[in-house]
Amino acid sequence: MKAIHKKSLAVCAGLLMCFAAMGAYMKLPEIKELLSSLQSDSLFYNSTTSVDPFRKEELLPPVVKELNPSYTIKASLLPDQATITGTVTMTFDNPQTEKLYLYYYGYKWNNNKISAIRWKGKSMSYNRRDPVLVLDNPAKNETRTQLEVVFETKIPRGPTRFGVHEGIWTLTHWYPMLGAMDQQKRWYEPPQVIGYGDPYIYHYADYEVDMVAPSSFEWVTSWGRGKKSSNEGGRSTYHFTGKKLLNFTMVGSPLYKVETVKISPNLTVDIGSTDVAHLAKLKEIATQVLPIYSKLMGELPYPRIGIAETGDRTVYAMEYANMAIIAKHMFNGNQVEHWLPHELAHLWWYNSVENIEPYTGWMDEGLVEASVTFYYRERFGEKAAAKILAEYQADANKLAKAYPYGKLSNHLTQFKDYYEFDWTWYSNAALLFDNLRKQLGDQLFFDFLKRVQSNYQHKVIGPEHLDQALGQTLGAEAQYFVPNVHKQNQKSFIPIAAEYYVDIIIGQTHFYPATRGRIRNQVVYLPLRETLEQLGFKVTSDQANRTIRAESKRNVIVFHEKSDRYVLNGIERKMPVPLLEWHARSLFPLALLNEGLGYRVTYQKEKRTVTIQ
Ligand SMILES: [Zn+2]
Repeated sequence: MKAIHKKSLAVCAGLLMCFAAMGAYMKLPEIKELLSSLQSDSLFYNSTTSVDPFRKEELLPPVVKELNPSYTIKASLLPDQATITGTVTMTFDNPQTEKLYLYYYGYKWNNNKISAIRWKGKSMSYNRRDPVLVLDNPAKNETRTQLEVVFETKIPRGPTRFGVHEGIWTLTHWYPMLGAMDQQKRWYEPPQVIGYGDPYIYHYADYEVDMVAPSSFEWVTSWGRGKKSSNEGGRSTYHFTGKKLLNFTMVGSPLYKVETVKISPNLTVDIGSTDVAHLAKLKEIATQVLPIYSKLMGELPYPRIGIAETGDRTVYAMEYANMAIIAKHMFNGNQVEHWLPHELAHLWWYNSVENIEPYTGWMDEGLVEASVTFYYRERFGEKAAAKILAEYQADANKLAKAYPYGKLSNHLTQFKDYYEFDWTWYSNAALLFDNLRKQLGDQLFFDFLKRVQSNYQHKVIGPEHLDQALGQTLGAEAQYFVPNVHKQNQKSFIPIAAEYYVDIIIGQTHFYPATRGRIRNQVVYLPLRETLEQLGFKVTSDQANRTIRAESKRNVIVFHEKSDRYVLNGIERKMPVPLLEWHARSLFPLALLNEGLGYRVTYQKEKRTVTIQ
């Protein structure tokens, strides 16, 4: 508990109830008050008052603008040639920009071909600088546009993350996709593959996929095993439908055994492997870990997911839309016990809520590494979780020593080497989340994770969205992720800073101003314009003199910017603290109302509620 500042005692004295530091009430150790960096210089701002009690706090817009694409893909897998030929028809909200971007992820050496990009049957010219295809927007006035892209994708024969190895066809990013843009309609430029990390930038889309492949194939995909109809020559068409997916991934093999397991009434998992014992192990882990994640982080918004084992020495383990992919050699030394829970946590962090992989990869990687410890704690107890956290800590210690000036905010291409990348985005980021859990306690922490899921489902977000959800969880304006992203590795994590909101009742009625009343340095502040207007004042501002004038039938008040002085009916008076400025709004200390204007004011600390009569 913090000592109450002298200045705030003056405020408290005028109230019926004084209140202690909020930390004690919320059982939140070490939550510091919000840094005043949020303050803005301008006193004058035309705010709009909202008095709608059902108003939900406006969520920050996602970092990828939603163009609501839907894909219809008709494709054919030719195993002899290790090729997929096909046509993807993409329909999307036209951003009405000069250029349109498509992404065709793949290996530069792989010689993937685009034979045509068409708009209304007309061939379009385009520039290609992998993985980006740029074309002129053919119809800038159209609100929704459709492009047809004819492609031929070569499938590498080898243990690459996209390829065929030991008879298992891992088809990821096998078709051209619509590009992604920010809210200012600037297209993102995904970086080249650099040997580690995920350089992909996505948006959510709906899918209809027809894949023609040998009838002997069994599939595990982003949306079930497909509806199979036989064609001639031992081939079948596999039809799939999917909603709100980052990509459509398919892993199939004539050697696959696939088991479909119902985890809960709303969640079914297909597990594919060529090895019966491995399949049993994958099933055993999945049936344990998925209910734990659902309990801690909320139900997945998808009914069907897949786990696919790929050939020996295939690149590690990977997350794709509704898919966890794990290579056979991950069974050596029981690495599967860590990495399957890791990839399954990506179903929440990546799949259901996404960040920009090459820029803020710490968000999903850190949170899934932390999720592994949540699972271990639930299933095997505190010691088992602590063991993994100690490994992350050892990495973080090496990181602080070897890369003291590095930061979480590094982009994928800005790390000096693999170690800096791995220790930063995996181990250190996991500790960032676990550090938050320790500050909040489990109850609030998992409420926070659930809120991130429910707020931003099917959206691509950044660290500011995490802070927003944290604030909502605490009933406060909160900062934790944004400041820590810019912290140097050699420094410790910056604790949560929170400025708690207060509820306002005027007379018998709840009052919901657009700018929330709040507590800073144990002083209750209310939004000046909105509160005084609600109390019947006419409020005007004088930009030249930096003053605000509030006038009612009985009183005329003139406030000065950032000042504790004000003039009431011609007589200068003083508030215990100056006006607070927050996001270009002015807030006044509560004492003004009772000491200055004679209102009866009570403050209930338990409920953080101000009543004005
Ligand atoms: Zn991962």
